[in-house]
Amino acid sequence: MSETLKIKWGRLERILEDLCDRIVNITLTTHELTFMSTALTWQNNLAAPGRGEESVSAVSFNEIEAEFLLNAKRVKSENMVIRALAHEAAHILLKDPSHGTLFKEKWKELRKIIKEKYYETLEDTDK
Ligand SMILES: [Zn+2]
Repeated sequence: MSETLKIKWGRLERILEDLCDRIVNITLTTHELTFMSTALTWQNNLAAPGRGEESVSAVSFNEIEAEFLLNAKRVKSENMVIRALAHEAAHILLKDPSHGTLFKEKWKELRKIIKEKYYETLEDTDK
């Protein structure tokens, strides 16, 4: 019944590490991702899930590390994973939890970059 998502998590992690210039960890969780429930140890720069992406993803980061949280119950496709990770990466790069025009431009740019790098890598190594 359920389809396994065959996502190359390690590749996404490496792409995000390059983009964000930090150690990156991607965590899949079944917890609801709200501002309060992402009570990680690093409280600085905690970005709440966005309106459109509510409960799909969240991020906690400092200057050295970033932890991307994905709601395993809500992430249904490769495209959704990339969208959610790009969304959170945009918060990191802008150091801003808001969703204004600048954010939307950065999110779009990062979606494109992550997709290009992700599929490029797959083509190079999965023949
Ligand atoms: Zn957001």
